[in-house]
Amino acid sequence: MRKFAPVPVVAIIGGGFSGAAVALHLTRILGAERRVRIVVFEPRARLGAGLAYDTAEPAHRINVPAFKMTLYPDEPEDFAEYLIRADILAADPGACSAGGTAYPRRSVFGDYVAAELAPRLASGAIEHRHKRVRKVTRSKGRWTLRSEDGEAFVADIVVLAVTHPAPSLPKALLPLSSSPRVVADSTRADALDGIAQTDRVLIVGNGLTAADVVAALAERGHRGPIVSISRHGLRSRGHPVDAQEPFGDFVSVPITRASELLRRIRQTLRIARQQGLSWHPVIMRCGHRASRSGRPCRSSSGVGSPGWRAPIGTCIVSA
Ligand SMILES: Cc1cc2nc3c(=O)[nH]c(=O)nc-3n(C[C@H](O)[C@H](O)[C@H](O)COP(=O)(O)OP(=O)(O)OC[C@H]3O[C@@H](n4cnc5c(N)ncnc54)[C@H](O)[C@@H]3O)c2cc1C
Repeated sequence: MRKFAPVPVVAIIGGGFSGAAVALHLTRILGAERRVRIVVFEPRARLGAGLAYDTAEPAHRINVPAFKMTLYPDEPEDFAEYLIRADILAADPGACSAGGTAYPRRSVFGDYVAAELAPRLASGAIEHRHKRVRKVTRSKGRWTLRSEDGEAFVADIVVLAVTHPAPSLPKALLPLSSSPRVVADSTRADALDGIAQTDRVLIVGNGLTAADVVAALAERGHRGPIVSISRHGLRSRGHPVDAQEPFGDFVSVPITRASELLRRIRQTLRIARQQGLSWHPVIMRCGHRASRSGRPCRSSSGVGSPGWRAPIGTCIVSA
């Protein structure tokens, strides 16, 4: 049997949304009694923001309707209610879609998570170490975390919540990495500062980060041509104008093979279409299934067109 310290220590590596949510829910489960020490290692200034919500760029908006984003599964509208309480939407007319769905700035979701954590940080129920963990080793039934400054921290349980690496240059573009006309990480605060309003821009990748780049350039008055490429040439599609409830059943009959899941999705999409629904609620339900079964849907990404040439003078943004 494992032996824990008198007050077991839970170290959470990564304090983006996932790490912050684990810490917060642990304190809720434990209540006022401090039976566990909870320490989150996160180099960013505040907990809860992570790569997605640690952005001051006004063009960066949440890409899921506000009423579907929450810290509390049993209170699905908690974030939407925060928006009303904090009167966010009145000051941000661009937040509402034509169908009336709220897509506030992503930093606002970070504010919401930070506000929920603040009392627990103040009371010491959650500790935030502004450090990046470099190494984790196991010895005598406990974990030793080594931070980048060399400090060691011993824990009984380690939660890995490091999730997204920041965007980086695909292999084919590495030889260009020293060029001032190449942006390797488009999520850095100053990433687009070197792009003039009339510059031609090539975005490598066609997903939501590419959409962020286009929106941020538009916000800065960029007028030059923008080309974005991806392996399959597909673009991320928008949300339906009117919100739809998740549709389909991917749970009651267990699905164990990817091919079976694909068949079931296609079949459900056909039924949804017959009922006048779009593909969105089917994919949403499928996502719920993945998170319930603990197996996140995986997607492959990468640049498969190394032969593609950007015209000379183009700014290349890796997204
Ligand atoms: C640009 C972008 C926009 C998104 N928009 C939405 C949205 O609108 N709605 C939605 O539902 N989902 C959105 N997502 C998905 C979103 O990422 C997840 O919902 C969620 O925020 C992921 O949180 P996370 O904590 O798992 O990961 P992250 O946010 O990536 O957090 C991981 C954290 O770990 C830290 N870390 C990494 N390595 C170490 C280390 N060695 N030591 C210590 N700390 C470390 C990082 O600094 C980071 O803060 C978006 C994702 C991205 C990338």
